[in-house]
Amino acid sequence: MNTRTILIVEDERPIREMISFGLKRAGFNVLEAEDSRSARSLIADHRPDLALVDWMLPDVSGLELTRLLKKDKNTAEMPIILLTARAEEQDKVSGLEGGADDYVTKPFSPRELLARINAVLRRAAAGVPGETLEAGGLVLDTAGHRVMAGGATVPLGPTEYRLLEFFMTHAERVYSRSQLLDRVWGGNVYVEERTVDVHIRRLRKALEAFNCDGLIQTVRGAGYRFSLRAV
Ligand code: CA
Repeated sequence: MNTRTILIVEDERPIREMISFGLKRAGFNVLEAEDSRSARSLIADHRPDLALVDWMLPDVSGLELTRLLKKDKNTAEMPIILLTARAEEQDKVSGLEGGADDYVTKPFSPRELLARINAVLRRAAAGVPGETLEAGGLVLDTAGHRVMAGGATVPLGPTEYRLLEFFMTHAERVYSRSQLLDRVWGGNVYVEERTVDVHIRRLRKALEAFNCDGLIQTVRGAGYRFSLRAV
């Protein structure tokens, strides 16, 4: 198998170097850029197989860079994983509307990042457009990272989207908070269990407008469940 090239776009050097170290050890070629402008020139010269783009960059934001690259037919096919911080995730719901193929929330473990990179590369190589999941009036498009209800887009943050995707692929089963942390947050040690409740609350609130909040059920003393049956 030929060696894949990953471009890291991140202005914070320690983070960039940490990511770079992990990727090189995993056998990738690595290119590094500290702003959007140098990223674009590296992309034009080297055509990387995937770009990791930090949201907060000194010139053009990572989200804007993603938008530009996805609009340009020369780079539209290059998968992009957006790196976000928790604070940004909270209000900038539009994270994936710029066209990112996935996102990883800081702080992340090198293992988690590697798993996401491999998943995105696999998907890109297979040319798989993703799948559509339907349940309880919700339609989830895994390629577009979008959820529709009654013909309208349900506005979800990245974590709420992932929670819902997990629930829809594991319906009718109860998951504890720690199981959800493992499966949805990738076992990130920095995340506390009550974070799960916060995101469940946000997910329900978003679904409420579409009368779908009842799909996310609290199972007392056990955790949460996505169910089409009324409690
Ligand atoms: Ca940054």
